Amino acid sequence: MRTPMVAGNWKMNKTADQAKALVTELLPGLKAAVKVERVLCPTFTCLSSVHDLIKDTNIGLGAQNLHWEASGAFTGEISASMVKEFCDYVIIGHSERRQYFGETDETVNKKVKAAQAAGLLPIVCVGETLSENEAGKTKEVVTRQLKGGLAGVVVSDPAKLVIAYEPVWAIGTGRAATAQDAQNVCAIIRAELVSLFGKANADAIRILYGGSVTGANAAELFGMPDIDGGLVGGASLKPDFIAIVNAAN
Ligand code: PEP
Repeated sequence: MRTPMVAGNWKMNKTADQAKALVTELLPGLKAAVKVERVLCPTFTCLSSVHDLIKDTNIGLGAQNLHWEASGAFTGEISASMVKEFCDYVIIGHSERRQYFGETDETVNKKVKAAQAAGLLPIVCVGETLSENEAGKTKEVVTRQLKGGLAGVVVSDPAKLVIAYEPVWAIGTGRAATAQDAQNVCAIIRAELVSLFGKANADAIRILYGGSVTGANAAELFGMPDIDGGLVGGASLKPDFIAIVNAAN
């Protein structure tokens, strides 16, 4: 039995004061959805203030990135142990990081290993672009991203590794994948997890769908057999996030 998860990726939004106001608004609804693993992923600069607001709840806190090195001359970067001072979760390999910041399956792999070593739960993002989708390459792309991003990764607790299937063409576009199309790809992902980590682990690893999830489409998406919740961008900044969380509850 996989515990559903809904994680909010705030991307580069909210100052610390704005973050506090949003969390205060969302907190009652978040607290009530006890059957869902709920995670907020604000910017690095908001982690401390959001941490203070949710530290006595069972709502999780995640970062949106980390660097794989432990410390040193890496200006502007944040290490896994620094993230771990505030967080238990971290998003890795989001398509915006792959697209705008040159992340590759190889860097994703280093980040996943650094996250695990620090005791963080990595939410590893995979997904095809529109042109890859139209060329019928979805399976090939997602499989390559999983093989590369998870090469040599050891799963000692399958509840501590999460995959997010995020078709790039669905992110921030208002055009979510249909529940059936998302399910089809998530089933491909689970099959690849079987070959990487064995069936028992693959059956226990959560797979999230991300890409224009709203309160209106969440229940149908999360009702699919291989979709265990969502990674939510735009709607995580609004009260609609609670409707999405409730759809997984
Ligand atoms: C995301 O940023 O991970 C995402 C899925 O964004 P949105 O929900 O806005 O499509």
